[in-house]
Amino acid sequence: MLKIAKYPEPILRKTAKAIADSDFNAELKSLAEQMAKAMYQDDGIGLAGPQVNKSLRIIVIGLGYGKYKTYVNPEITYSSKDKMSVEEGCLSLPKIFGYVVRPKKVHVKYQDLDGNINKEKLKGIDAVVLQHEVDHLNGILFIDRAKKISQGQEILDALKKKINGK
Ligand SMILES: [Zn+2]
Repeated sequence: MLKIAKYPEPILRKTAKAIADSDFNAELKSLAEQMAKAMYQDDGIGLAGPQVNKSLRIIVIGLGYGKYKTYVNPEITYSSKDKMSVEEGCLSLPKIFGYVVRPKKVHVKYQDLDGNINKEKLKGIDAVVLQHEVDHLNGILFIDRAKKISQGQEILDALKKKINGK
């Protein structure tokens, strides 16, 4: 089972590398499968490469009942001006939740596991999950964007102290 990287592990702050055309192979498919397993194991709804210590631009999003969708090299090509606020959590920040304001609708361009380019329009919670995961590829965590931490502020404070207190 892949191990989930937890804040403040430095890999979570790195910009992940694009997956090259030559890397669309069985190994990549296996990585996606293992990521989905790790995600379901911890009851997550999305997981990004850096969260399993792979600094690669790959995301899996849960569709329920063990099913998942993989986005390779995802790129948000449109974000609506219309925003929504959702309480987010993260497998890399256990027991911490906070309200994040994000665009309500996004368009995403990505490659599937065979390297084919696809486009998708997402709204509501699906758009939120995708944006949260794309942020991971850029070293951004929801706590950076949260207007308010709704649960686990003391846990977060203790983790931050760990970084600053060295
Ligand atoms: Zn996350």
